[in-house]
Amino acid sequence: MFNDIQEVLYTEEQLQTKIKELGETLSRDYEGRNPLVICVLKGAFIFMADLVKNMTIPLELDFMAVSSYGTATKSSGVVKILKDLDVPVEGRDVLIVEDIIDSGLTLSYLIDVLERRNANSTRVVALFDKPVRRTVGLEADYRGFELPDAFVVGYGLDYAEKYRNLPFIGILKPEVYSN
Ligand code: 5GP
Ligand code: MG
Ligand code: MG
Repeated sequence: MFNDIQEVLYTEEQLQTKIKELGETLSRDYEGRNPLVICVLKGAFIFMADLVKNMTIPLELDFMAVSSYGTATKSSGVVKILKDLDVPVEGRDVLIVEDIIDSGLTLSYLIDVLERRNANSTRVVALFDKPVRRTVGLEADYRGFELPDAFVVGYGLDYAEKYRNLPFIGILKPEVYSN
């Protein structure tokens, strides 16, 4: 598995340092608001776990699964809810936890859905951002790292459902795709 990686972009330690900072900022900003923290499955599951461990305020969690990529490396442009939230968002301060923002299609769709359900506020925390790839006008409210225009894996992010368990984020060797 590690042999398939061409380059490590951010090490486990660098990721953890940044996530600790994000957790501290979010704890300040959401103090006394009991936010509903929503993990966008599957890619954000590790980030979500590490982030909430660094949030020192009362909060609630929920999970949502949407399809956008399938097993390829390009967005299909179609967003579908595969698993919806268990709890209503009406009146809640919602924080969407995303692994990465690429085209922005998935997030703009999600934000739209949650606002139509009358959330009190909807913000986004994304660990990674590829701003040059954006096709819709959308910015994360909180962001970890800006990435170049490359397909990355690890720390929750997959290629054909593999590599999610790598503790760092990296770029695959080109020959891995052609297999
Ligand atoms: P977007 O809708 O912003 O184009 O991207 C939606 C989803 O595609 C992201 O949340 C993520 O799950 C996946 N994605 C985008 N870029 C990458 C990437 O570089 N690597 C991997 N593994 N997934 C990505
Ligand atoms: Mg995602
Ligand atoms: Mg994927």
